[in-house]
Amino acid sequence: MREQIAEKSINQWVEQYPILEEIINTNEVFWTNPTYQMANSKNTLKEADIDDAAKRLKRFAPYIAKAFPETLESEGIIESPVKPIRNMQKAIEQNYGVTIQGDLLLKCDSHLPISGSIKARGGIYEVLKHAEELALKHHYISDDHDYTQFDSEAFKALFSSYEISVGSTGNLGLSIGIISAQLGFKVTVHMSADAKQWKKDLLRSKGVHVMEYQSDYSKAVIEGRIQAEKNPRCHFIDDENSQSLFLGYAVAASRLKEQLKTMDIKVDADHPLFVYLPCGVGGGPGGVTFGLKAEFGEYVHCFFAEPTNSPCFLLGQLTGLQDKVSVQDFGLSNQTDADGLAVGRTSSFVGEEIGHMLSGCFTIQDARLYALLRDLADTEEILLEPSALAGFYGPVQLLTQQSGLNYIENNNLQQKMKQAHHLIWATGGNMVPQEVMTGYYEKGKDVDL
Ligand SMILES: *Cc1c(COP(=O)(O)O)cnc(C)c1O
Repeated sequence: MREQIAEKSINQWVEQYPILEEIINTNEVFWTNPTYQMANSKNTLKEADIDDAAKRLKRFAPYIAKAFPETLESEGIIESPVKPIRNMQKAIEQNYGVTIQGDLLLKCDSHLPISGSIKARGGIYEVLKHAEELALKHHYISDDHDYTQFDSEAFKALFSSYEISVGSTGNLGLSIGIISAQLGFKVTVHMSADAKQWKKDLLRSKGVHVMEYQSDYSKAVIEGRIQAEKNPRCHFIDDENSQSLFLGYAVAASRLKEQLKTMDIKVDADHPLFVYLPCGVGGGPGGVTFGLKAEFGEYVHCFFAEPTNSPCFLLGQLTGLQDKVSVQDFGLSNQTDADGLAVGRTSSFVGEEIGHMLSGCFTIQDARLYALLRDLADTEEILLEPSALAGFYGPVQLLTQQSGLNYIENNNLQQKMKQAHHLIWATGGNMVPQEVMTGYYEKGKDVDL
């Protein structure tokens, strides 16, 4: 714990924001954003930037379909299904004694092709964009060329003289490692201590250079950045500041809009959409939120979910200090089983881009992640990794905590909740080896929640 944070003592901070006492005690909280929807002059990205990213992914679709045959069915578009989960909805209503008006939906990024997590959006997008820039620079391609050529020996030879590097707690490393190796890049992944062994093994089997650190995510990123700077032919993927990653995630929204339309699900003045997104450094959920706000405006309500020991985005927003504060400053451990969410310090880039678009943040304890994992497996036969369940606690908290009820009332939503949809963003799981997943499920069985 730090004595002084931005020239105030912890006691002074707690006095100013009483919810901090709960956060420091690792109690689960539901915080709504007092500055929601206030204009923000700091925005640097525009809707046109999302369109540009969507078009780039379309250009690359023939390449993706060729290099990753599992995407043939979707013609090289890396997308995941949306599923109604009525049995899980009933289970939650029973377990928590709450009636969830409207319908629960699951966005299955856990089952995105290629890397089985939300990182298959941003991570793969940024590497493709970099590959395109290099190919253009070396006159291997012009805009109207057939992009399946990226899967040729000539292109692989070109990329083999370049390097990609990234710092990661696991899933970003998986997505960057897999796509970079497939394109022919040399690739190094700097893994934090909490990264799972199977992720390191899988990457090494694909020829990825994995560096391991005995410290948390922030340190792995710093080390990765220093090493990348030494090599001018190395592109460092900067999870904290990358606009490309952010835009790759944002493309999800226009696709979701189409999916909901196909399912006859309305999002408008009478049909609010609530979206609950697990948050680590903020880029994934932030990019998706940016896209959702562009598509649905005030009719979508986005909430971020973080572990009780790693609420870095919440602390950054609540205090206004963004990346000038860490969870350790407030005495929190940053220890959690939720891969991808074990981040002690948020991204100020993301906070400034979307902070004002965010309806709120909530925290969830690890034991509850396992309980929800068990319940989802039992009711829907869907298996997720622990982090990916964080969103599920959102509707419960929204509908039972005073802050949630106030949010509904202040936004005049009471009469509309019956027609609402609650979309839980399931961010990962499909790559988890079966024996590891069985271990997660068993842990859930032992939890009394
Ligand atoms: C990375 C990740 C997140 C959060 O993304 P950030 O960009 O770090 O906020 C959520 N869930 C899973 C499973 C992830 O791998």
